[in-house]
Amino acid sequence: MTARTDSKNPVARRVSRVIKGMPATDGAGVELTRVIGQPALPMLDPFLLLDAFRSDEPEDYLAGFPPHPHRGFETVTYLLDGRMRHQDNAGHEGVIEPGGIQWMTAGKGIVHSEMPEQENGLLEGFQLWVNLPAAHKMDPPTYQEYPASHIPSETRDGGVAVRVIAGTTSRGTRGPVVQPLTDPLYLDVTLPARGEFVESTSPGHNAFVYVINGPVVATDMDGNSVQLQRDDLGILAYGDAITLQAADSDARFLVVAGKPLNEPIARGGPFVMNTRAEILQAYQDYEQGRF
Ligand code: MN
Repeated sequence: MTARTDSKNPVARRVSRVIKGMPATDGAGVELTRVIGQPALPMLDPFLLLDAFRSDEPEDYLAGFPPHPHRGFETVTYLLDGRMRHQDNAGHEGVIEPGGIQWMTAGKGIVHSEMPEQENGLLEGFQLWVNLPAAHKMDPPTYQEYPASHIPSETRDGGVAVRVIAGTTSRGTRGPVVQPLTDPLYLDVTLPARGEFVESTSPGHNAFVYVINGPVVATDMDGNSVQLQRDDLGILAYGDAITLQAADSDARFLVVAGKPLNEPIARGGPFVMNTRAEILQAYQDYEQGRF
């Protein structure tokens, strides 16, 4: 048998905290909800930021994100609705469409724009920032981009559907995105009313659930049932077994986990390095056109 050592005695990951996102404006005036990277949750190592955007008001998103730099981490854009055009200073260009993922490793630096490819209608999705370890912050930039058709959907009993963007489920479905440095799991789970989602994760990884449509029923640290509402983030405390349920209506949520880096963090706007000196260097390199 090659069963994992933890498979016989799984430890339930309970919800240690529920975080409400806070309204924020970024780019040239895009209205969004900042969930990770705000005072209530500055980071959840290796995750530096999570923005959620959902609006059918063009004035909330039309301004987009004109050219700006990044260095030292990865930006992960997952769209549920709408279209975003991406363009960088190395000539890389494309459109992210509903259900598509763009996992951009900024590494030593990239200057890119992210602009809505639509003038009306719903734009809904997420941007997650995933840190890179010190030894890889200055790696060359790379992309992992996949349209919806390349993201496997695992169908389970009772109408449970799991889109696997990164990582591998307990049933062996493997997502197209690979990042050994933080070993991320990124799942988009749909549950019918009263449905249940059970999954295992690496116990040492930090993990969270983000509710797209709720409520989602989980267990808190006291063993009590807790309901997470739409747009709530629940931190899934130490353990390996995740169990989440839908209440009386269909539910949809993201489950994201990754290996913490446990390194010092220095932030400066679009740059995330380990020291203040490296941040100053990033600004200098950007201003002098070295990206
Ligand atoms: Mn960006």
